[in-house]
Amino acid sequence: LRCTIPERVITPHHTPPGAAVPVAEQTLESFDGGTRFAVRVQRPERYREVEAPGPESLRIVRGGGYSYAAASFGPHSLVQDNSRFDRILDFDPVMGTMECEGGVTLERIFEVATPAGWYLAVQPGYPGITVGGCIASDVHGKNPFRDGTFRRQVVSIKLFHPSHGVMVLDPGSACDPFDLTCGGLGLTGHILSARLRLTRFGGGRILRRRIAIGSARDTIAVLEEHAGTAEFVYTWQNVTVAGVGFGRGFLYAGSMLEPDPGQRPRFSLRTSRPVPGNRGRWRWALLNDRTARVFNATYAMAQALEPSCRDLSLFESLFPVARRVRYFSLFGKAGFCEYQILMPRQAFVDFIKDLERDIGRLGTGVTLASCKLFRGRPSLLRFDGDGICIAIDFRRGDAGERLARRLDELTPAYGGIPNIVKDSRLPRAVVRACYPQFDAFASALQAFDPKRIYRSEVSERLGL
Ligand SMILES: Cc1cc2nc3c(=O)[nH]c(=O)nc-3n(C[C@H](O)[C@H](O)[C@H](O)COP(=O)(O)OP(=O)(O)OC[C@H]3O[C@@H](n4cnc5c(N)ncnc54)[C@H](O)[C@@H]3O)c2cc1C
Repeated sequence: LRCTIPERVITPHHTPPGAAVPVAEQTLESFDGGTRFAVRVQRPERYREVEAPGPESLRIVRGGGYSYAAASFGPHSLVQDNSRFDRILDFDPVMGTMECEGGVTLERIFEVATPAGWYLAVQPGYPGITVGGCIASDVHGKNPFRDGTFRRQVVSIKLFHPSHGVMVLDPGSACDPFDLTCGGLGLTGHILSARLRLTRFGGGRILRRRIAIGSARDTIAVLEEHAGTAEFVYTWQNVTVAGVGFGRGFLYAGSMLEPDPGQRPRFSLRTSRPVPGNRGRWRWALLNDRTARVFNATYAMAQALEPSCRDLSLFESLFPVARRVRYFSLFGKAGFCEYQILMPRQAFVDFIKDLERDIGRLGTGVTLASCKLFRGRPSLLRFDGDGICIAIDFRRGDAGERLARRLDELTPAYGGIPNIVKDSRLPRAVVRACYPQFDAFASALQAFDPKRIYRSEVSERLGL
């Protein structure tokens, strides 16, 4: 283990500006395929190399690169690839706390913590995502109603910013640097490491039940029935067929089983591992407006043929897409759009009626619709609050653009908020109209960093 950062100290700059850290030209693409730029990329390996670009140089940190939007690169910034900061600095298996560098992946945390009886209750659905990326996007997991967002597990953060040196940040007051960094899109500085609070895992398997949903209008009731008790709660719904069956699908509710003393726990880690740049390697889109309906019907049939109760490993339950990542490649080079909205409960049914009408009218093939129940407090640019989260995937193209633009109108009209890191085309006006604290975030960021050193395509598009 190597930890050279002094505790609770503000350091001056150690490295003279321009110190040699190799820089490569690389073309990076957002995971949804919507944005790509040739950028300069650096892969620092030591803390002093993080400082090397000099105090004024524009930059942005890149974690796993799994944001659907270009949050970790931009046309004017040096990209600091954080993958070499991948060490677990401390793990207390009695208290269930872990300190790790920002580039540690969720998979690595799983490997170390789970055999010792701990796991992260809030984590996004792909194992290659990093701790830095989870903090910067304040991500949610499989049951945000019960567990909240990633921020709730963060005990402290070590953050570097050229104007402030290294700071140790604890949860404190509104708009302080900790508050700005959680969900701050990487704009407050470089997360060197974080101390995380883990949740007990008894070592058993997960019993995942599949419960039928008759139509989109039943979504709230079925989510409410299970979100208070189950560990993992989310839906898959088919919104390609209008009428009574619109939004028909399944709710998946996973609960932990007591470990079976006769059975050795398994910590399955088998996954296919796409790097974000590989997603669009297929030229043709097998998933498109014409095939979406068949795709949904086939998936529904395949699910219905499976037993309604399945016994899964914790890994499979946390990362259900880990073995289904080919789904994203099926959109081909053109890519896809995921519009994810957190909608107030009282607006959901009316929103669904509009969605049903608009999908039919615009001819967009929705390849996936999935809902989760949320409970939280909305603030700054965090995707958090009380309500129902719905994610809708469709192929990028004319029909997709029409639906995305319509959702840009519906989301503010119904009081929803769009997830900024899930959509590489989201216009500033929509984000500003939906997030009541957009201006508060912008001015707090400006006060913290008047030179606005950390920038990405997302921050430039949003005018931050
Ligand atoms: C298959 C898949 C499933 C997903 N499931 C979910 C889900 O269930 N819930 C959810 O909320 N999201 C989900 N996401 C989105 C994903 O969790 C977020 O976009 C996350 O931020 C990606 O983290 P990353 O490590 O890939 O970072 P990047 O995509 O590289 O960066 C994301 C942001 O974090 C910043 N950042 C990264 N590291 C640091 C650091 N060390 N210091 C400062 N800033 C940093 C970047 O600057 C950028 O702003 C999913 C994405 C995929 C591809």
